[in-house]
Amino acid sequence: MRVKIALAGNPNSGKTTLFNALTGSNQFVGNWPGVTVEKKEGKIKGYTSKAEEAILVDLPGVYSLSPYTLEEVVSRNFLIGEKPDAIINIIDGTNLERNLYLTTQLTELGIPVIVAVNMMDLVRKNGEVLDIEKLGKDIGCKVVEISALRGEGIDQLAQRAVAIARGKKKNQPAHRFDGCVEHALAHIEEAIAGRVDESMERWYAVKLFERDEKVRESLDLDPALIRHIEEDIVSCETEMDDDAESIITGERYNYIGNIIEDCYKKRVKKTMSTSDKIDSIVTNRFLALPIFAAVMFLVYYVSVTTVGTLLTDWTNDTLFGAWIIPGAQSVLEAIGCAPWLTGLLVDGIISGVGAVLGFVPQMLVLFLFLAFLEECGYMARIAFIMDRIFRKFGLSGKSFIPMLIGTGCGVPGVMASRTIENDRDRKMTIMTTTFIPCGAKLPIIALIAGALFGGASWVAPSAYFVGIAAIICSGIILKKTKMFAGDPAPFVMELPAYHLPTVGNVLRSTWERGWSFIKKAGTIILLSTIFIWFAQSFGFEGGTFKMVENMENSILAAIGSGIAWIFTPLGWGNWKPAVAAITGLVAKENVVGTFGILYGFGEVAEDGAEIWGTLSGAMTQAAAYSFLVFNLLCAPCFAAMGAIKREMNNGKWFWFAIGYQTLLAYTVSLCVYQIGTWVSTGLFGAGTIVALILIAAFLWLLFRPYQENRMRKMSQNAAGEINA
Ligand code: GDP
Ligand code: MG
Repeated sequence: MRVKIALAGNPNSGKTTLFNALTGSNQFVGNWPGVTVEKKEGKIKGYTSKAEEAILVDLPGVYSLSPYTLEEVVSRNFLIGEKPDAIINIIDGTNLERNLYLTTQLTELGIPVIVAVNMMDLVRKNGEVLDIEKLGKDIGCKVVEISALRGEGIDQLAQRAVAIARGKKKNQPAHRFDGCVEHALAHIEEAIAGRVDESMERWYAVKLFERDEKVRESLDLDPALIRHIEEDIVSCETEMDDDAESIITGERYNYIGNIIEDCYKKRVKKTMSTSDKIDSIVTNRFLALPIFAAVMFLVYYVSVTTVGTLLTDWTNDTLFGAWIIPGAQSVLEAIGCAPWLTGLLVDGIISGVGAVLGFVPQMLVLFLFLAFLEECGYMARIAFIMDRIFRKFGLSGKSFIPMLIGTGCGVPGVMASRTIENDRDRKMTIMTTTFIPCGAKLPIIALIAGALFGGASWVAPSAYFVGIAAIICSGIILKKTKMFAGDPAPFVMELPAYHLPTVGNVLRSTWERGWSFIKKAGTIILLSTIFIWFAQSFGFEGGTFKMVENMENSILAAIGSGIAWIFTPLGWGNWKPAVAAITGLVAKENVVGTFGILYGFGEVAEDGAEIWGTLSGAMTQAAAYSFLVFNLLCAPCFAAMGAIKREMNNGKWFWFAIGYQTLLAYTVSLCVYQIGTWVSTGLFGAGTIVALILIAAFLWLLFRPYQENRMRKMSQNAAGEINA
């Protein structure tokens, strides 16, 4: 018999670890219909034949089945709508009280439940004792102990889960609430009998007691019946002097308290665990930030400055530069390939994609570190530490992780925003993550610093400063608009105990991120390099359309000249920088290379040292810095735009994000150029006035008060939207 089993649990209870262990590589990742919450499905290992197979569906991590967050709605709709054959409820054994809250709700659904108490390795290490026989009796379902991380007990779990899914014995919740609540629930159950599946009567009754709007609507009860139910609820509320929803919450916690007393033995002497000891230093008020800065410095020192650079230089200069490119060139020439085709293959495709792949080794080193920090539990602390700071400008601490990853590449950065549950926080993070200079923008910074500022060491840090300032200002400005008003979601995140990660998990997550970057190189960058190569190699020369000798005659030059006027107020209204900015949309790696070609040097070093002289003659410092700022802030490369589109999952929001980024880039660059020119040369003109007006408007947007009233209303609407 083919069965479908849902995997449900709190965030950080070990769901992903268990899912990977149970399904191995038989996974499909997608999105839940209509929303960007990740949907993972896989086949449990060992049940491979078509008729026998057991599908495991990983539900979003939730703390309860109330209808308040997108994740809860998704999980609840799946459980009620699709009625899986069984539920594996994974709970964190070191945190029973909070985890059992969801369990008490799952057991009411009438679906067979098996509870997997995870992190048993830690429970034992802490010297705590759990009586699973009693626990099973108290909650009314099978319980097994596992350690997902070490793979202990998971085979037994899978066998039992499949067995109860095939058996389909309805689950009966073991708990009973206070007399008056049970009385009301019994009345409600009676009233709805026949309208809902018998095994789910209790769940519906509890929800109706809580006055859950969605459930009430879905049942389409007649008004007389609702009034009747309401009487029961109100009399219970009067008796217990509380509102219905809180009564149920309180009853659940009472019940959980009893269970814990019954079957859980804490160590008698309460000493601090190792993890707590580490935390008392690492998340200390004063030490947290310096320690974090030191860790990040180390990560960057190794992955960007030393090991990573060595690997990347080798890939660029030796692997591609000395072997693959010249090799391909001579092979193609030897077999008498047409010059245009050799050009396309070698100069277009291999060089273009090669330049991007050159970043892969460096990125893998960075991702390896990030995966390690994430797995061992430090990343969760970073989000927690950063939350104190990020909250001040309307972002959540979890926005920090996407931005950190974004310093490597915006694509996985934007994708990492999935870990942010709150919809507004997530959208804001997606919009601002790419402001942080990614690895591919570093050569542009090196070019401008080298050519126009004598290699001044302040230019590179200033680029990060511009990126961070753009994020902070955007956070504040957007938060004051109608779209984003409302309090940031409270920070709820379980801090997992520190532990040494397994090699497999670290490599898996490194590879997943690296692969998404490689795929980008293989698809979108491949197509766009072909287009750019074509546009710059062909054009009208001497009256005919052919492969041009002089790039000034190419199609690309024509496009550049056509749009160059747009950038005149920014100080670089010349077709060459305009073209470089366009190729930058394809991939930021292209900007320096394009300058090289346009200024008549076929091949330039990564920082374009060959063209520094030419470039310094062609641009003023103000114009060059304006060009740099524009490229840092404007719409990112096509691949990152693709990621934004996918994560927003909504055309309007996508265009809003791209439009906002480009408008901000244009405004800031204009101000940089106009004010810079005024300061350095004393020239004061119409452009300067426009810049001053723009700055005033920007400051107004930044410092105007929050709109309190509207804010409250909006957050209500937002909640309504999620429910709808
Ligand atoms: P999810 O948020 O529910 O998907 O949780 P994850 O699978 O990402 O796990 C959260 C953290 O707990 C990770 O750092 C895991 O390595 C760790 N973890 C998961 N299972 C166990 C376990 O059995 N023992 C220990 N010590 N750690 C675990
Ligand atoms: Mg997970």
